[in-house]
Amino acid sequence: MVIIFAAMNEMDNVYHKLITELNQKKVTLIAVSKTKTIGAIEALYALGQRDFGENYVQEVVQKYEAMHRDIRWHFIGHLQTNKVKYIAPFIHAIHGVDSLKLLAEINKQAAKLDRTINCLLQVHIAKEETKFGFDDIELAAAMKQVSMYPNVHIRGLMGMASFSEDETLIRNEFQHLKMLFDKYTLTHADFNTLSMGMSGDYTIAIDEGSTMVRIGSMLFGARAKHN
Ligand SMILES: *Cc1c(COP(=O)(O)O)cnc(C)c1O
Repeated sequence: MVIIFAAMNEMDNVYHKLITELNQKKVTLIAVSKTKTIGAIEALYALGQRDFGENYVQEVVQKYEAMHRDIRWHFIGHLQTNKVKYIAPFIHAIHGVDSLKLLAEINKQAAKLDRTINCLLQVHIAKEETKFGFDDIELAAAMKQVSMYPNVHIRGLMGMASFSEDETLIRNEFQHLKMLFDKYTLTHADFNTLSMGMSGDYTIAIDEGSTMVRIGSMLFGARAKHN
């Protein structure tokens, strides 16, 4: 019991410090709850958090069904086209849209439900080959097409910096994403969200103009590997 209370107080403190800082800077917090239990999410909900991020379809569906209806669920992982239909009825925003094929499918499923789904286009800014996203040229081509999809609402861009100790590298990658965000903000009035920054690099991301950070391990503690 003592250990549980100590852990809860720790989460409390970390959350209050973080949310105060983010509110001052007008940055939205997505609490990344992937792999975490409903109990852990409930603890943050009780502190007032409403935006949660998940990256597995089955997991977010189960959590949605089990939890409060005023939670805004953000899908932040790589989404397969054939799974869009499972999250389309309730998802608040999809952060990792990385192909027009996926965008078309989100539009189709949203249209069936007579709703509009917020989407962020994912840009590949990191050195690592393994990360998903459009490159600059593909993004330019995609941005020309977005008006063809009336049931998706493109709100901005999302990106992940290299997993690196090199602060300069991370900063440069975020600067690049911000430059693209500013460019498309000029022509797309609905652009208002730049989703960049995680537990390890969110302070750099905010310095470089992030409006939304996705933070998991700093709030909930470390996850098992490969998540
Ligand atoms: C897991 C994940 C995060 C959160 O990572 P932490 O390092 O735990 O803060 C953010 N964004 C995406 C896309 C993720 O998959």
